[in-house]
Amino acid sequence: MNLKENIKILKNELNVSIFAHFYQEDDVFEIADVTGDSLELAKQSMDIKSDTIIFCGVGFMGQSVKILSPQKKVYMPKIACCSMAKMISDDCFDESIAILNKSGIDSEDILPVTYINSDALVKAKVAKMGGMVCTSSNAKKIITNAMTNGKKIFFLPDRCLGQNIANNLNLKHKTIGIDKDLQNGDIICYNGFCSVHQLFDVDDIEFFKKRYDNILIISHPECDPSVCDKSDFVGSTSQIISFVKSLDENQKIAVATEFNLVNRLRKKNTYVLSATKPQCPTMSETTLEDVYNLLLSIKNKKPINEIILDKDTSKWAKISLERMFKV
Ligand code: 13P
Ligand code: SF4
Repeated sequence: MNLKENIKILKNELNVSIFAHFYQEDDVFEIADVTGDSLELAKQSMDIKSDTIIFCGVGFMGQSVKILSPQKKVYMPKIACCSMAKMISDDCFDESIAILNKSGIDSEDILPVTYINSDALVKAKVAKMGGMVCTSSNAKKIITNAMTNGKKIFFLPDRCLGQNIANNLNLKHKTIGIDKDLQNGDIICYNGFCSVHQLFDVDDIEFFKKRYDNILIISHPECDPSVCDKSDFVGSTSQIISFVKSLDENQKIAVATEFNLVNRLRKKNTYVLSATKPQCPTMSETTLEDVYNLLLSIKNKKPINEIILDKDTSKWAKISLERMFKV
């Protein structure tokens, strides 16, 4: 019997649901019960009947599932970290607020909005200041709503997503560490970024446009604004998949997001918008063997890699996620 069949038998026997993000390697993606973008996975975890979830993705995603369904056991085959989420700790959050204060913006006038790609401790800090979470699929809606507050938005940790949304809404953006006049921004971004989406640039767009007539450029909003501005469609992983499905199969497309997703999109007329392979190293860490070993450890009552959060962090991080759902 092969590994996939063994996994299937064990997960049914133990009543475990396997969740996988779109950036997982094909092998792991194919054994999942639930797949989706970060928002869909977090939402679906609340509806799923089984009380044990194995989450194949990166740490902040597994944490979000645990925060929203604290009564469930959540495990990860590998505790893999999103490098962008690692760029901001709760201490860095405090330091950033101090920088904003120094530039003349009082704490009462700041509304923090954190991208879901952040640690639970950071989400908790954001909630304590009245702020909330957003994902790439709802960032525009969340920021539009947050702006009605009349406060400055402190957007973290992805400067590109913050800048892209600001451009889209005709708002002024400033970035800590880059701009001196932070007080002149409507949205002030933390200077974090995704190392994978940084690989795409305008030269690649020009290359593909020159080579193929009428090619469409599709990008994720974690790409630099120079790339998103020149794209025909910008969206979250799920939004990209839906958009591509709506196209004629002869339509040529070049896509600026993670390799595993683009590779599965469709066989023909699809290109990765990069000369290098844009693979998320930590997303690709999880293997079928890891999933199998985790299932065995659960069966043997010595489970490994359980997501555990302290009560206060969990309570406040949940508030930041619930505020997003409310909007
Ligand atoms: P999505 O919310 O679009 O799935 O993005 C998550 C992510 O980490 C993209 O790099
Ligand atoms: Fe994090 Fe970038 Fe990987 Fe997404 S692709 S999980 S943002 S490092």
